[in-house]
Amino acid sequence: MKRPARLLLCTDMDRTIIPNGSQPELLSVRKQFAKFCSLSQLCLVYVTGRHLRLMEEAIEEYNLPEPDYAITDVGTKIYHRHECKWQENLAWQTMIAGAWKGKSHGQLQEALNCVTELILQEPDRQNDFKLSYYLPLAVDEKRILHGVQQRLKELNVQASLIWSIDEAKNMGLLDILPGNATKLHGIEFLQQQLGYQPDEIIFAGDSGNDIPVLTSSIRSILVANARQEIQAQAIEGARKNGNAASLYLAVNTESGVDGNYAAGVLQGIIHFFPEMNEKLEKM
Ligand SMILES: [Mg+2]
Repeated sequence: MKRPARLLLCTDMDRTIIPNGSQPELLSVRKQFAKFCSLSQLCLVYVTGRHLRLMEEAIEEYNLPEPDYAITDVGTKIYHRHECKWQENLAWQTMIAGAWKGKSHGQLQEALNCVTELILQEPDRQNDFKLSYYLPLAVDEKRILHGVQQRLKELNVQASLIWSIDEAKNMGLLDILPGNATKLHGIEFLQQQLGYQPDEIIFAGDSGNDIPVLTSSIRSILVANARQEIQAQAIEGARKNGNAASLYLAVNTESGVDGNYAAGVLQGIIHFFPEMNEKLEKM
């Protein structure tokens, strides 16, 4: 595989580079990750369910490198960091607005009032194009998601329903987004705007809202601490889409934790770009 002149590293945050899951993290791996991200050929993008302020809090709390770009709110917002300030990409907002066919966040929320199992998330987890609910894990989520999809279809709204599990809260999360505004769509938009070739992009993730990217043709890493069912879903989805070779499953080997979180991300980068190993060993 030829060495890319530059690399667009897109990574999820929680339980991918932030070790806030139940599994242990390899000692000082985040320092090594930050050093790697400081390479001049590397452009770092955080792709997260968090909103901008929560993302910044995590960067500080966990000593993470500052990214060049941020795709936040599960893909519904894109920001560029310029001279230490965040600038929102308004072209992205315009692009995703069409899928909701002029319906507002409030109108969609009202239409879903009849689905009584849904619990609205806090106001700071909502935006014009992100309607987010909690759903207790004891509920049959497939039935609820089907019902939600039906209601939205009646309104002629094109939506992506993203289901994930918040391990810490032991709670299901349902994000209703414009049909063209998942993490995958956000990455593809940024790739096009910045002019990166497909072989110059890599993604890492761990959970349900990462599945659209993990099963796409983008070279992707699933960290070893991901839940079993996510692993199965990613393998099956990538195979169905003809993208099995683009998915790398990080594994825990000798130390037992070198596939978890940021260590898994670095392991995957070496898998796709073996020549990076030498650089990483020196860090
Ligand atoms: Mg995550």
